[in-house]
Amino acid sequence: MKNSKANKKNQEMKTAKFNPMIRIKELGNPLHYKFEEVSCYLCGSADCKEYLIGEEDLTGKDGAFLYVQCEACNLVYQNPRLNLDSIKEFYDQEYIAHRKKTYFGILTPVYEWTMNKHDRDKEKLVRKFIKLDASKKLLDVGCAVGTFLLHMKKKTQCKIVGVDFKDGSHYPGFDQIDFKEGLFYEQNLAEEDYDLITMWHFFEHDYDPNKTLETAHRVLKKEGKLVIEVPRLDSVTFRWFGNKWPGVQSPQHTALYDKRSFVAMLEKHGFVVESYLPYGAFPPFFYIFTGFYFRFIGKGLNLDRIVIPYFFTQLFWLPVIWLQKYLNLSMQTAVCRKKLSTE
Ligand SMILES: [Zn+2]
Repeated sequence: MKNSKANKKNQEMKTAKFNPMIRIKELGNPLHYKFEEVSCYLCGSADCKEYLIGEEDLTGKDGAFLYVQCEACNLVYQNPRLNLDSIKEFYDQEYIAHRKKTYFGILTPVYEWTMNKHDRDKEKLVRKFIKLDASKKLLDVGCAVGTFLLHMKKKTQCKIVGVDFKDGSHYPGFDQIDFKEGLFYEQNLAEEDYDLITMWHFFEHDYDPNKTLETAHRVLKKEGKLVIEVPRLDSVTFRWFGNKWPGVQSPQHTALYDKRSFVAMLEKHGFVVESYLPYGAFPPFFYIFTGFYFRFIGKGLNLDRIVIPYFFTQLFWLPVIWLQKYLNLSMQTAVCRKKLSTE
């Protein structure tokens, strides 16, 4: 009798639908954070289960954020997420992608070389797939401080267009960029106008990834390429660090894509993934270093204080970094074209 009662209770617990709004209340977030429920970006289902609890490890700001896994298609996404008003405070001046050229004492040249190296690595990656020249048009979505666009213009003379929700016009060289401030899908962009569209660590921050891909599809030329880099959930560093994986970066990351869900999102919007790379231009060592830091030291990264240990410990990891293309360390990049109407 007792047993059957317990069984019944178990059964009820199994069938009771997981409610993300109730779960987030248990996490005791600051009262001024306003959350909104979302359904799966990939398949639209609202059925989900808890996947992990993330924190803002990079700056150490308060909060515990819930990632769920879709019961229907397995996409991992943040649900509920902060509404647009509440997320703004997480994109202040300290946000790492928007930091530019800080003074690091005697290591300043090393820092600058590393930052420029990131743009050179992006260039190397896209050049394998598309030839740019003065007649070609490049659009970088989430262009931040604009250094990638300026680098590409210098190297190929291509026309450069950038979109970001933050005004970057005070950064050096920005006058050379046809810059559009605001959300990508709200811009008035001509149809089939771009030869190359890039999104470097933009897509995983997106509040409406479906609208973004629809827009990219509409404005990309028939023979154009779309290059998207995002952190890879089914990677080695996620296995090492779990909810302290730097790719969680909550609350800014709205979804955590594994290879399957990333490719499925792109195909859903009429793209063909011509090349799938288990790496990106982003340095995997940043995820290795900060993952260990968040897991064993704590949250809140003081860039000025870590820059020296960062460069020295990197030396020990060089063999791993050299082999990054084969090790599935942290990133993934999809190089896509538009699916032809005859396909
Ligand atoms: Zn789904």
